[in-house]
Amino acid sequence: MQILVYAQEARSYIEALREAAPEADVFGVSSLAEAEPFLEGTEVLFAWGMPPAIIARMPRLRWIQWLGAGVDLVVRELPPDVILTRVVGAFSTVMAEHVFAYLLALRRGVFAMRALQREHAWRRITGLSLRGRRLGVAGLGSIGAEVARLGRAFGMEIWGLSRTPRGEELCDRHFLPSQMGEFAAGVDCLVLVLPATQETQGIVDREVLRGMRDDAILINVGRGSAIVERDLVEALRDGRPAMAQLDVFEVEPLPPESPLWDLENCYISAHCSGPSEPRLVRTFAAANLQRYLSGQPLVGVVDPRLGY
Ligand code: NDP
Repeated sequence: MQILVYAQEARSYIEALREAAPEADVFGVSSLAEAEPFLEGTEVLFAWGMPPAIIARMPRLRWIQWLGAGVDLVVRELPPDVILTRVVGAFSTVMAEHVFAYLLALRRGVFAMRALQREHAWRRITGLSLRGRRLGVAGLGSIGAEVARLGRAFGMEIWGLSRTPRGEELCDRHFLPSQMGEFAAGVDCLVLVLPATQETQGIVDREVLRGMRDDAILINVGRGSAIVERDLVEALRDGRPAMAQLDVFEVEPLPPESPLWDLENCYISAHCSGPSEPRLVRTFAAANLQRYLSGQPLVGVVDPRLGY
Protein backbone atom coordinates (compact mmCIF):
# COMPACT_ATOMS: atom_id res chain seq x y z
CA MET A 1 0.00 0.00 0.00
CA GLN A 2 1.27 3.47 -0.88
CA ILE A 3 0.71 6.38 1.47
CA LEU A 4 1.47 9.96 0.47
CA VAL A 5 1.82 12.90 2.84
CA TYR A 6 1.44 16.25 1.09
CA ALA A 7 2.10 19.10 3.53
CA GLN A 8 4.66 21.80 4.28
CA GLU A 9 5.86 19.82 7.29
CA ALA A 10 5.38 16.41 5.55
CA ARG A 11 8.57 15.00 7.05
CA SER A 12 7.28 15.37 10.59
CA TYR A 13 4.47 12.89 9.83
CA ILE A 14 6.50 10.12 8.16
CA GLU A 15 7.87 8.42 11.26
CA ALA A 16 4.52 8.22 13.07
CA LEU A 17 2.76 6.90 9.95
CA ARG A 18 5.47 4.31 9.28
CA GLU A 19 5.10 3.16 12.86
CA ALA A 20 1.33 2.82 12.40
CA ALA A 21 1.71 1.06 9.04
CA PRO A 22 5.08 -0.75 8.95
CA GLU A 23 4.15 -2.66 5.76
CA ALA A 24 3.24 0.44 3.77
CA ASP A 25 5.40 2.68 1.58
CA VAL A 26 5.13 6.15 3.07
CA PHE A 27 6.33 9.17 1.08
CA GLY A 28 6.38 12.84 2.07
CA VAL A 29 6.20 15.76 -0.37
CA SER A 30 5.55 19.47 -0.11
CA SER A 31 5.04 20.55 -3.72
CA LEU A 32 3.21 19.43 -6.82
CA ALA A 33 6.49 18.70 -8.60
CA GLU A 34 7.59 16.38 -5.77
CA ALA A 35 4.16 14.71 -5.71
CA GLU A 36 4.06 13.86 -9.45
CA PRO A 37 5.81 10.45 -9.26
CA PHE A 38 3.42 9.26 -6.49
CA LEU A 39 0.03 10.34 -7.87
CA GLU A 40 -0.63 7.15 -9.85
CA GLY A 41 -0.01 4.66 -7.01
CA THR A 42 -1.30 6.43 -3.89
CA GLU A 43 -4.11 4.71 -1.94
CA VAL A 44 -4.08 6.84 1.19
CA LEU A 45 -3.38 10.58 1.21
CA PHE A 46 -2.58 12.75 4.23
CA ALA A 47 -2.76 16.35 3.09
CA TRP A 48 -2.83 20.01 4.06
CA GLY A 49 -2.29 23.01 1.82
CA MET A 50 -2.39 20.80 -1.27
CA PRO A 51 -3.98 21.99 -4.54
CA PRO A 52 -7.17 19.85 -4.34
CA ALA A 53 -7.42 19.48 -8.14
CA ILE A 54 -4.64 16.88 -8.13
CA ILE A 55 -6.98 14.40 -6.43
CA ALA A 56 -8.52 13.76 -9.85
CA ARG A 57 -5.13 12.42 -10.96
CA MET A 58 -4.99 9.73 -8.24
CA PRO A 59 -6.85 6.70 -9.68
CA ARG A 60 -6.12 4.35 -6.75
CA LEU A 61 -7.06 6.79 -4.02
CA ARG A 62 -9.43 5.36 -1.36
CA TRP A 63 -9.05 7.68 1.63
CA ILE A 64 -7.96 11.26 2.29
CA GLN A 65 -7.07 12.32 5.82
CA TRP A 66 -7.13 16.13 5.67
CA LEU A 67 -4.65 17.42 8.26
CA GLY A 68 -6.97 20.17 9.41
CA ALA A 69 -10.52 20.58 10.74
CA GLY A 70 -12.01 22.65 7.90
CA VAL A 71 -12.45 20.71 4.65
CA ASP A 72 -14.21 23.32 2.50
CA LEU A 73 -11.37 23.45 -0.07
CA VAL A 74 -11.07 19.71 -0.58
CA VAL A 75 -14.67 18.47 -0.20
CA ARG A 76 -15.66 20.01 -3.55
CA GLU A 77 -13.05 17.91 -5.39
CA LEU A 78 -13.90 14.64 -3.67
CA PRO A 79 -14.55 11.70 -6.03
CA PRO A 80 -17.67 9.69 -4.99
CA ASP A 81 -15.78 6.54 -3.95
CA VAL A 82 -13.14 8.28 -1.80
CA ILE A 83 -13.61 8.74 1.96
CA LEU A 84 -12.62 12.08 3.45
CA THR A 85 -11.80 12.51 7.14
CA ARG A 86 -10.88 15.66 8.99
CA VAL A 87 -9.07 16.22 12.28
CA VAL A 88 -11.35 16.22 15.32
CA GLY A 89 -10.38 17.32 18.81
CA ALA A 90 -6.83 18.53 18.22
CA PHE A 91 -7.94 22.16 17.78
CA SER A 92 -10.49 22.54 20.54
CA THR A 93 -8.31 23.58 23.48
CA VAL A 94 -6.13 26.17 21.77
CA MET A 95 -8.98 27.69 19.81
CA ALA A 96 -11.19 28.03 22.87
CA GLU A 97 -8.24 29.60 24.69
CA HIS A 98 -7.77 32.02 21.78
CA VAL A 99 -11.43 33.05 22.09
CA PHE A 100 -11.14 33.62 25.84
CA ALA A 101 -7.78 35.37 25.53
CA TYR A 102 -9.57 38.04 23.48
CA LEU A 103 -12.84 38.01 25.45
CA LEU A 104 -10.98 38.58 28.70
CA ALA A 105 -8.57 41.13 27.24
CA LEU A 106 -11.39 43.12 25.64
CA ARG A 107 -13.75 42.98 28.62
CA ARG A 108 -10.99 43.76 31.15
CA GLY A 109 -9.56 46.63 29.06
CA VAL A 110 -6.09 45.08 28.58
CA PHE A 111 -5.47 46.78 25.21
CA ALA A 112 -6.52 50.16 26.62
CA MET A 113 -4.18 49.70 29.62
CA ARG A 114 -1.32 48.95 27.28
CA ALA A 115 -2.06 52.08 25.24
CA LEU A 116 -1.99 54.17 28.44
CA GLN A 117 1.33 52.61 29.44
CA ARG A 118 2.83 53.77 26.15
CA GLU A 119 1.83 57.34 27.08
CA HIS A 120 3.17 56.92 30.67
CA ALA A 121 -0.39 57.76 31.75
CA TRP A 122 -1.52 56.64 35.21
CA ARG A 123 -5.24 56.23 34.65
CA ARG A 124 -7.50 53.59 36.11
CA ILE A 125 -9.52 51.44 33.75
CA THR A 126 -12.52 49.66 35.15
CA GLY A 127 -12.70 46.29 33.49
CA LEU A 128 -15.91 44.30 33.20
CA SER A 129 -16.45 40.68 34.18
CA LEU A 130 -17.53 37.79 31.99
CA ARG A 131 -19.55 36.28 34.85
CA GLY A 132 -23.27 36.55 34.30
CA ARG A 133 -22.81 37.64 30.67
CA ARG A 134 -24.42 35.71 27.85
CA LEU A 135 -22.12 33.84 25.48
CA GLY A 136 -23.53 32.83 22.09
CA VAL A 137 -21.68 30.01 20.35
CA ALA A 138 -22.66 29.41 16.71
CA GLY A 139 -21.40 25.93 15.81
CA LEU A 140 -21.44 23.45 18.67
CA GLY A 141 -19.03 20.90 17.18
CA SER A 142 -15.70 19.78 18.58
CA ILE A 143 -14.40 23.36 18.92
CA GLY A 144 -17.64 25.16 19.78
CA ALA A 145 -18.31 22.65 22.56
CA GLU A 146 -15.02 23.58 24.24
CA VAL A 147 -15.80 27.31 23.89
CA ALA A 148 -19.14 26.63 25.60
CA ARG A 149 -17.44 24.60 28.34
CA LEU A 150 -14.96 27.38 29.12
CA GLY A 151 -17.81 29.89 29.03
CA ARG A 152 -19.56 27.92 31.76
CA ALA A 153 -16.36 27.85 33.81
CA PHE A 154 -16.36 31.67 33.66
CA GLY A 155 -19.94 31.74 34.95
CA MET A 156 -21.48 32.78 31.64
CA GLU A 157 -24.94 31.89 30.42
CA ILE A 158 -24.59 29.80 27.27
CA TRP A 159 -26.72 30.18 24.18
CA GLY A 160 -25.87 27.90 21.27
CA LEU A 161 -26.81 27.59 17.63
CA SER A 162 -26.31 24.60 15.35
CA ARG A 163 -27.86 23.04 12.25
CA THR A 164 -29.57 20.26 14.21
CA PRO A 165 -30.42 19.88 17.93
CA ARG A 166 -27.03 18.16 18.37
CA GLY A 167 -25.16 19.99 21.12
CA GLU A 168 -28.24 21.50 22.76
CA GLU A 169 -27.28 19.85 26.07
CA LEU A 170 -24.29 22.25 26.18
CA CYS A 171 -26.53 25.29 26.25
CA ASP A 172 -29.03 27.05 28.45
CA ARG A 173 -30.92 27.87 25.27
CA HIS A 174 -30.53 26.35 21.83
CA PHE A 175 -31.28 27.91 18.44
CA LEU A 176 -31.51 26.66 14.86
CA PRO A 177 -30.07 28.55 11.85
CA SER A 178 -33.46 30.11 11.01
CA GLN A 179 -33.27 31.86 14.42
CA MET A 180 -29.88 33.48 13.82
CA GLY A 181 -31.26 37.04 14.20
CA GLU A 182 -32.86 36.41 17.59
CA PHE A 183 -29.82 34.46 18.76
CA ALA A 184 -27.31 37.18 17.82
CA ALA A 185 -29.47 39.97 19.22
CA GLY A 186 -29.63 38.36 22.64
CA VAL A 187 -25.96 37.74 23.42
CA ASP A 188 -23.12 39.83 24.88
CA CYS A 189 -20.43 37.86 23.08
CA LEU A 190 -21.05 36.07 19.78
CA VAL A 191 -18.48 33.44 18.81
CA LEU A 192 -18.65 31.87 15.34
CA VAL A 193 -17.16 28.39 14.99
CA LEU A 194 -18.96 27.37 11.83
CA PRO A 195 -17.71 25.36 8.85
CA ALA A 196 -17.79 26.99 5.39
CA THR A 197 -20.80 25.53 3.60
CA GLN A 198 -23.48 26.89 1.28
CA GLU A 199 -25.79 27.26 4.28
CA THR A 200 -23.34 29.16 6.47
CA GLN A 201 -22.27 31.51 3.65
CA GLY A 202 -23.12 35.05 4.78
CA ILE A 203 -25.16 33.82 7.77
CA VAL A 204 -24.07 36.98 9.62
CA ASP A 205 -25.24 39.83 7.40
CA ARG A 206 -26.30 43.44 7.82
CA GLU A 207 -29.63 42.52 9.35
CA VAL A 208 -28.07 40.21 11.95
CA LEU A 209 -25.35 42.76 12.77
CA ARG A 210 -27.87 45.61 13.13
CA GLY A 211 -29.77 43.56 15.67
CA MET A 212 -26.70 43.04 17.88
CA ARG A 213 -26.17 44.94 21.12
CA ASP A 214 -24.00 48.04 20.93
CA ASP A 215 -21.73 46.64 23.66
CA ALA A 216 -21.44 43.16 22.10
CA ILE A 217 -18.21 41.48 21.07
CA LEU A 218 -18.13 39.37 17.90
CA ILE A 219 -15.41 36.74 17.42
CA ASN A 220 -14.99 34.61 14.29
CA VAL A 221 -12.60 31.64 14.38
CA GLY A 222 -14.56 29.38 11.99
CA ARG A 223 -14.46 30.57 8.40
CA GLY A 224 -14.54 34.08 6.92
CA SER A 225 -17.40 33.21 4.56
CA ALA A 226 -19.86 33.20 7.50
CA ILE A 227 -19.76 37.03 7.73
CA VAL A 228 -20.61 39.46 4.93
CA GLU A 229 -17.45 41.51 5.40
CA ARG A 230 -18.62 44.78 3.83
CA ASP A 231 -21.65 44.68 6.16
CA LEU A 232 -19.33 44.11 9.13
CA VAL A 233 -17.16 47.09 8.20
CA GLU A 234 -20.27 49.27 8.15
CA ALA A 235 -21.54 47.76 11.42
CA LEU A 236 -18.24 48.28 13.23
CA ARG A 237 -18.15 51.90 12.04
CA ASP A 238 -21.62 52.29 13.56
CA GLY A 239 -20.40 50.64 16.78
CA ARG A 240 -22.77 47.68 16.69
CA PRO A 241 -21.28 45.27 17.59
CA ALA A 242 -18.90 47.25 19.77
CA MET A 243 -15.86 45.15 18.86
CA ALA A 244 -14.83 42.27 16.65
CA GLN A 245 -11.97 39.80 16.75
CA LEU A 246 -11.46 38.13 13.40
CA ASP A 247 -9.14 35.21 12.79
CA VAL A 248 -10.64 34.26 9.41
CA PHE A 249 -11.66 36.34 6.40
CA GLU A 250 -13.48 36.20 3.08
CA VAL A 251 -10.09 36.50 1.34
CA GLU A 252 -6.89 35.30 3.01
CA PRO A 253 -4.37 36.76 3.47
CA LEU A 254 -6.55 39.77 4.29
CA PRO A 255 -5.71 42.28 1.52
CA PRO A 256 -3.70 45.30 2.75
CA GLU A 257 -6.41 47.65 1.42
CA SER A 258 -9.16 46.06 3.55
CA PRO A 259 -10.78 48.71 5.79
CA LEU A 260 -10.84 46.15 8.62
CA TRP A 261 -7.12 46.71 9.30
CA ASP A 262 -7.67 50.32 10.38
CA LEU A 263 -10.83 50.02 12.44
CA GLU A 264 -10.01 50.78 16.07
CA ASN A 265 -12.63 48.30 17.26
CA CYS A 266 -11.46 45.44 15.04
CA TYR A 267 -8.80 43.02 16.29
CA ILE A 268 -7.18 40.92 13.62
CA SER A 269 -5.23 37.68 13.82
CA ALA A 270 -3.90 35.89 10.75
CA HIS A 271 -5.82 32.59 10.78
CA CYS A 272 -3.71 31.36 13.67
CA SER A 273 -6.18 30.53 16.44
CA GLY A 274 -5.51 26.84 15.71
CA PRO A 275 -2.42 24.98 16.93
CA SER A 276 0.91 25.82 15.35
CA GLU A 277 2.68 22.53 15.93
CA PRO A 278 1.56 19.29 14.31
CA ARG A 279 1.99 16.92 17.28
CA LEU A 280 -1.73 16.51 18.08
CA VAL A 281 -2.65 16.30 14.41
CA ARG A 282 0.10 13.70 13.87
CA THR A 283 -1.19 11.56 16.74
CA PHE A 284 -4.75 11.80 15.40
CA ALA A 285 -3.63 10.90 11.84
CA ALA A 286 -1.59 7.87 12.97
CA ALA A 287 -4.49 6.57 15.09
CA ASN A 288 -6.88 6.93 12.14
CA LEU A 289 -4.40 5.07 9.92
CA GLN A 290 -4.36 2.19 12.41
CA ARG A 291 -8.16 2.14 12.30
CA TYR A 292 -8.11 2.11 8.48
CA LEU A 293 -5.70 -0.83 8.41
CA SER A 294 -7.69 -2.85 10.94
CA GLY A 295 -11.05 -2.12 9.29
CA GLN A 296 -12.40 -0.09 12.24
CA PRO A 297 -14.62 2.96 11.59
CA LEU A 298 -12.58 6.10 10.93
CA VAL A 299 -12.97 9.17 13.14
CA GLY A 300 -13.92 12.51 11.58
CA VAL A 301 -15.66 11.21 8.45
CA VAL A 302 -16.99 14.12 6.39
CA ASP A 303 -20.46 14.00 4.84
CA PRO A 304 -19.82 15.36 1.32
CA ARG A 305 -23.49 16.36 0.95
CA LEU A 306 -23.30 18.59 4.02
CA GLY A 307 -19.76 19.73 3.28
CA TYR A 308 -18.37 19.23 6.81
P1 NDP B 1 -17.69 20.26 13.66
O1 NDP B 1 -18.01 19.64 12.34
O2 NDP B 1 -17.36 19.39 14.83
O3 NDP B 1 -18.92 21.19 14.10
C1 NDP B 1 -19.58 22.01 13.20
C2 NDP B 1 -20.73 22.69 13.92
O4 NDP B 1 -21.34 23.63 13.03
C3 NDP B 1 -21.84 21.71 14.33
O5 NDP B 1 -22.38 22.12 15.55
C4 NDP B 1 -22.86 21.88 13.22
O6 NDP B 1 -24.19 21.56 13.58
C5 NDP B 1 -22.73 23.37 12.99
N1 NDP B 1 -23.28 23.78 11.70
C6 NDP B 1 -23.02 23.28 10.48
N2 NDP B 1 -23.76 23.90 9.54
C7 NDP B 1 -24.49 24.82 10.19
C8 NDP B 1 -25.45 25.78 9.80
N3 NDP B 1 -25.83 25.92 8.51
N4 NDP B 1 -26.01 26.57 10.74
C9 NDP B 1 -25.69 26.43 12.04
N5 NDP B 1 -24.79 25.53 12.50
C10 NDP B 1 -24.19 24.73 11.58
O7 NDP B 1 -16.52 21.31 13.39
P2 NDP B 1 -15.34 21.81 14.37
O8 NDP B 1 -15.94 22.36 15.61
O9 NDP B 1 -14.27 20.80 14.50
O10 NDP B 1 -14.75 23.01 13.47
C11 NDP B 1 -15.56 24.08 13.06
C12 NDP B 1 -14.87 24.90 12.00
O11 NDP B 1 -13.79 25.63 12.57
C13 NDP B 1 -14.19 24.06 10.89
O12 NDP B 1 -15.12 23.68 9.90
C14 NDP B 1 -13.14 25.01 10.37
O13 NDP B 1 -13.65 25.71 9.25
C15 NDP B 1 -12.89 25.99 11.52
N6 NDP B 1 -11.50 25.91 12.00
C16 NDP B 1 -10.75 27.05 12.02
C17 NDP B 1 -9.43 27.03 12.47
C18 NDP B 1 -8.63 28.28 12.57
O14 NDP B 1 -7.40 28.21 12.69
N7 NDP B 1 -9.26 29.44 12.58
C19 NDP B 1 -8.78 25.76 12.88
C20 NDP B 1 -9.70 24.63 12.89
C21 NDP B 1 -11.00 24.72 12.44
P3 NDP B 1 -24.72 20.02 13.61
O15 NDP B 1 -23.89 19.27 14.59
O16 NDP B 1 -26.14 20.19 14.04
O17 NDP B 1 -24.57 19.48 12.22
